[in-house]
Amino acid sequence: MVFLNGTFIQKIKASISVMDRGFLFGDGVYEVIPVYQGKIFRLTEHLDRLQNSLDSIQITNPYSHDEWHTILTKLNSFSPELDQSLYLQITRGADTQRKHNFDTLTPTVYIEANPLTPKSKAQLKIGFSAMTREDIRWHRCDIKSTSLLANILYAQEAKQHQVEEIILFRNHEITEGATSNVFMLKDNTLFTHPTGPNILSGITRDLVISSAKACRLDIQETPFLLDDIQHADGLWISSSTREIMPITLLDNRPINQGVIHPAWSCVHDHYQQLKND
Ligand code: PLP
Repeated sequence: MVFLNGTFIQKIKASISVMDRGFLFGDGVYEVIPVYQGKIFRLTEHLDRLQNSLDSIQITNPYSHDEWHTILTKLNSFSPELDQSLYLQITRGADTQRKHNFDTLTPTVYIEANPLTPKSKAQLKIGFSAMTREDIRWHRCDIKSTSLLANILYAQEAKQHQVEEIILFRNHEITEGATSNVFMLKDNTLFTHPTGPNILSGITRDLVISSAKACRLDIQETPFLLDDIQHADGLWISSSTREIMPITLLDNRPINQGVIHPAWSCVHDHYQQLKND
């Protein structure tokens, strides 16, 4: 079952107009929200970020917080899996003619739920590889936009090179991953790019920061350089579906001699506790 414009229907029966601006222009925003043990994780934070995205592109939020909660909980209940990821997208809606500027339209709301199987600690401790690329995206990466062409090209490159993630840099500074936020550990300090137009303000990013504080790491929300990574004690990526992954190989060079720093384990365990709260 999926949710489309107020109705729960079978996915195969769900359809939208060819004049939908999401289809024509990628004119829309989205969220991915994890559900653990049947409970929606950090819903308020995701809805706040959704509101920011909608405000940024002048779409009126079609639902209140409580209405979103009701819809998402109901969609959740159609599936037997206790851990799920909810994908929701809102486009500007269908117009009568294709034009770049817009009038006020009725937004199209689509939501689907998919099983979520987070990697176990043992699976994560193997470590992952990544490669770096210049960040060619636009300067509003804070909007969780469905226009994802650059991210799609990066994801395909990651697939072709069999790496977990593409880590992006702009003017030598690491911004984020193609689908994640990035953290560098050095001498008990965890560095990550500050929020703003160059990165998506990850919900997991905030939780990594609070978990790292609980693990007595210092936090520096300041940009770090691509060159700094050579001497890092650790490099992690974070996202709602991948949680906190240690990168042990970047551009075919080992990070911290391929050894995952014990601070990762502490932050990982703390994050897992948050999921049970
Ligand atoms: N940055 C980008 C570009 C992303 O696509 C994502 C998630 O998909 C993130 C960061 C992490 O955000 P969150 O932790 O809210 O999943």
